[in-house]
Amino acid sequence: MQAIILIFIILGLIVTTILISPLLTKQRRNRIKRRSFPPLWQAIIENNLPIYLRLTTDERRRLQGHIQVFLKEKQFIGCQGLQVTVEMKLTIAAFACLLLLNERAEYFPKLRSILIYPSTYVVTETIATGSYFISEKRIAKLGESWTRDQLILSWEQVQQDTRNWHDGRNVVLHEFAHQLDQEDGKAEGVPILPQKSDYAIWAQVMTAEYQQLCHDVDNGLHTVLDSYGATNPAEFFAVATETFFEKPRELLQQHPALYELLQGYYQVNPQLWVV
Ligand SMILES: [Zn+2]
Repeated sequence: MQAIILIFIILGLIVTTILISPLLTKQRRNRIKRRSFPPLWQAIIENNLPIYLRLTTDERRRLQGHIQVFLKEKQFIGCQGLQVTVEMKLTIAAFACLLLLNERAEYFPKLRSILIYPSTYVVTETIATGSYFISEKRIAKLGESWTRDQLILSWEQVQQDTRNWHDGRNVVLHEFAHQLDQEDGKAEGVPILPQKSDYAIWAQVMTAEYQQLCHDVDNGLHTVLDSYGATNPAEFFAVATETFFEKPRELLQQHPALYELLQGYYQVNPQLWVV
């Protein structure tokens, strides 16, 4: 009898912990968000996030809160002898947290560490070239998002992106869009959406836009979306995200349905931030 009571008590504790844990996390994050934002951090963001001063007061307040939580929860690791600085952390966090302004985010839950290389890094990838043959290829990379728990960035590229906000390319936005996509364990260009009914609309718009880009690339036509988006639906979502934030007016003009879909998902309207 005592053993049964003990089992019930343990089960009760486990259930209570599972139920309370998200609540405690939310409370802890809210406490972090309420902390004052250091003036040095403010200065770095103003300098490195070109659209920061164009955000509304409310958007800036939310962004600051998300950055504080992000910095508390993620680990930054310098590679090839790179010393990680406050500027590096702040810049990466500011770009990444732009994607969280919709307030639905769980702060990229699968991600634990951000590895920063000084510049382009080279990886050796194994490629199956037939039933029995495997070849190794050395590839230079600017960044990548792993479904495990790490994301890799080139600091040189991040710095370039701070100077060229309107070129439609941003490695941090790109890799963190992959994180959103991979949150459900699959990399297929579909992040977690608020309503079940949203998935049908998402599939309809994204499929049509992806096929259009593939068609344009096949026919050598220039488009506001980078041709890399035609690689697969996951890359299309990451490229569309970069374009949405960096070239909002062109995207709205040339792909209104895609712009509207991303505006609904990210809950921001970047064309209002254009200087
Ligand atoms: Zn990618």
